Amino acid sequence: AAPPKPVSSFGHLGFPENLLKAIRKSEFTQPTPIQAQGIPIAMTGRDIIGIAKTGSGKTAAFLWPMLIHIADQPELKPGDGPIGLILCPTRELALQIYSEAKKFGKVFNYNVCCCYGGGSKWEQSKDLEKGAEIVVATPGRMIDMVKMKATNLERVTYLVLDEADRMFDMGFEVQVRSICDHVRPDRQTMLFSATFRKKVEKLARIALNDPIRVVQGDVGEANQDVTQIVLIKPLGGAKWIWLLKNLVQFTATGSILIFVTKKANAEELQNNLKLKECDSLLLHGDMDQTERNVVISAFRKKEKDILVATDVAARGLDIPHIKTVVNFDVARDIDTHTHRVGRTGRAGEKGTAYTLVTEKDKEFAGHLVRNLEGAGQIVPQDLLDLAMK
Ligand code: ADP
Ligand code: MG
Repeated sequence: AAPPKPVSSFGHLGFPENLLKAIRKSEFTQPTPIQAQGIPIAMTGRDIIGIAKTGSGKTAAFLWPMLIHIADQPELKPGDGPIGLILCPTRELALQIYSEAKKFGKVFNYNVCCCYGGGSKWEQSKDLEKGAEIVVATPGRMIDMVKMKATNLERVTYLVLDEADRMFDMGFEVQVRSICDHVRPDRQTMLFSATFRKKVEKLARIALNDPIRVVQGDVGEANQDVTQIVLIKPLGGAKWIWLLKNLVQFTATGSILIFVTKKANAEELQNNLKLKECDSLLLHGDMDQTERNVVISAFRKKEKDILVATDVAARGLDIPHIKTVVNFDVARDIDTHTHRVGRTGRAGEKGTAYTLVTEKDKEFAGHLVRNLEGAGQIVPQDLLDLAMK
C-alpha cells in the first residue's frame, strides 16, 4: 500500500485529546517536515528510515507514535521490561530524549527509565526493576542491564535506533546489532541518521522490515520543483527501447533534453531517432558558438521538441519549456548531474529528470543516492543495492 500522506497540522494525526493538549502546551504550533511525513507512517505500524539533520524534530516523530503504540499493550507489572526501547549514542542525548519521553509519557502514566554509560549501574538497575514502559539507553549500558537481569527485552515491540551513524562512530555497532537480534522480529523499528552511509544502510537491511524512507532534504539548495526518477537497467538495459517507448509521452508535455557523454553517442542517438521519424536537434562541443546559437534558438522557438546534447554544450541553458531531462548516459560527476537536472524546473515550472543507470555506474550510484537524499527525492532500493555492491 502507498504510504499515508503528510499532515499539515497536529490535529490530523489521530492523537487522543490529552496528548494534543500536551503538544500544544509545549508551544509547538505545527509539525516539522519529518514529523508531518513520519508520524502518519509510524502510526500505520510500518518501519521507517529517517534521514534528517539535527534539529529537525525527530524525537517527537518517533516518540509520539510510540506512546500510542504502548497504549494498546498489556498493563505494566513490576519487573516488566520496556515495550518502547530507544537506543542513542550518548548520555546527553539519552537524557534529552528521556526528558521528552517523561513529559509526554506522563499523559499516559508511563514509567520511563534512562540508562547510560557513566551513570550508576545500581541506581539504573533499581529504576528498571520497578518496571518501565519506555527505556532510553545507550547500547553498551542496555546490554549490561540485561546481563544483570535488571530488565529484559521480551516485551519490546517498538524499537528506535536514534542517530545510528553516531552510534557507529562511537563503536556501538556490535551492541546495536546484538540488541536488534534479541528483540522479537515482528517489532516496529525506526532508524534515524543524519547521513546515509553504507554501515547504516546495512543495519537498516538487517534490522528493518520493508521500511519507508523519510528524507528531509536541504531546503534552498535543491530544486523541489524537479522530480527525479532513477531507473536501473530500464527494460533489461535496453535504454534506447525505454526512450522510444516514452518519447511520445515526454514530448506531449513539453520539450525534452537528452544528455549523453560523448559527441559520438549524441550523433548515434540522433540518427536512431531519425530512423524512427523523430526529428531532434544536436548540440556538442565540436560546434562553434554560432552553430550552437542556431540550435539553441531553434529549440527555444520549439521548432523541434527534442534536443540531444553533451554536457559541454548544454552549460547555462535556460529554457522554461524543457519539461523533461533524460540522463541517457549518467553524468561524469555528481555536480554535472545536478547541473543537468537543473535544466528543467526553471522559473517555478515543474519538471522531471530521468536518470538511466547501468551496472557499470556503480560508483556514480553512491553519489547519486546522497544527491537524491539531499534533494528530498525518493531513493529506489535497486539504486542502493547497486551503490553497495
Ligand atoms: P532532532 O532529533 O531532529 O535533532 P529534536 O527532536 O531534538 O530534533 O528537536 C529539536 C528542537 O526542536 C527541540 O528543542 C524540540 O523541542 C523542537 N521541536 C520539535 N518539534 C517541534 C515542532 N513541531 N515545533 C516547534 N519546535 C519543535
Ligand atoms: Mg535527535
